[in-house]
Amino acid sequence: MALFDRVSRIRAGLAKTAQQIRERLTGARDDRGDRPRPATAAAAVDRVESLEAVEEALLAADVGVAATDRILAAARADHAGTVRERVSREIVRILREVSPAPAVSTKPRIVLVVGVNGTGKTTTVGKLANLYRVRGESVLVCAADTFRAAAVEQLAVWADRAGVDFVRAGSGADPAAVAFDAATAAKSRGRDVVIVDTAGRLHTRANLMAELTKIRRVVGKAVEGAPQEVLLVLDATVGQNGLVQARQFLAASGATGLVLTKLDGTAKGGVAIAIAHEVRLPILYVGVGEGMDDLIPFDPTQYVDALFADQW
Ligand code: GDP
Repeated sequence: MALFDRVSRIRAGLAKTAQQIRERLTGARDDRGDRPRPATAAAAVDRVESLEAVEEALLAADVGVAATDRILAAARADHAGTVRERVSREIVRILREVSPAPAVSTKPRIVLVVGVNGTGKTTTVGKLANLYRVRGESVLVCAADTFRAAAVEQLAVWADRAGVDFVRAGSGADPAAVAFDAATAAKSRGRDVVIVDTAGRLHTRANLMAELTKIRRVVGKAVEGAPQEVLLVLDATVGQNGLVQARQFLAASGATGLVLTKLDGTAKGGVAIAIAHEVRLPILYVGVGEGMDDLIPFDPTQYVDALFADQW
């Protein structure tokens, strides 16, 4: 995806959050009643003098208390540039503290996608398959969520649209065995990457975690060092609850990175900062819509620019 395209998509995806931030900042100024609303964005930049207004805007965007405190403390101690520049610098620093592991060259590499049902996991698998294929990789998608027939069908449609291989098993099959078969098939067909869609709900949380642990162990028997990546999908619209979900998955899934979906559907897109700050895992991709192209590789600078797009 071209850089320009990526920047405009992340801006569109964060439009609701950005608008809320702008309203909070201009609202705080208007409340003082002593000066008119700034006519231009450039004028607005110079007008944000109060870090209290910034604090309120960040909290409203779901940045969370701990990360907001850190951002404000850093902005107070930093005297270079406008308030916006100082705040942006610290946010980028938080987001960069958890940097992605270097890419592996194993072939095939196995990518497990985990998360609670409804977060956009299956959609993310489809989008990711497309993104990898566009990058020039050969992809095999595996439906290991064998309890949800609808999810398997949905994934078959995505794989077809993305033009990638698809491996499924009958209903009730052992998910770990399906993942093993997919990894073996990818090896013999010389595919570059296998993306495994896992279950997001079982009878109990313990069952679900046991299943994820088993899938991890079994794919490791098919391909050395697998899984190379475990992506935990979180829904941005659930805000801080995503943090609780993330913690529950961390131990069992061995997540290596995060995908934050539905950024386009919330004014609380600042939750990405809270998550990076608390969960200590890199955000690798963000979902900004329901279409095939609506998964964007996450870039901290682009994210912060979109969050504060020309507003203050
Ligand atoms: P799963 O149960 O976790 O596999 O979730 P699905 O992939 O079935 O997605 C649940 C719903 O969320 C579907 O209606 C998707 O179209 C929608 N969805 C997924 N990702 C995004 C996104 O980034 N933005 C928006 N607006 N909707 C999304």
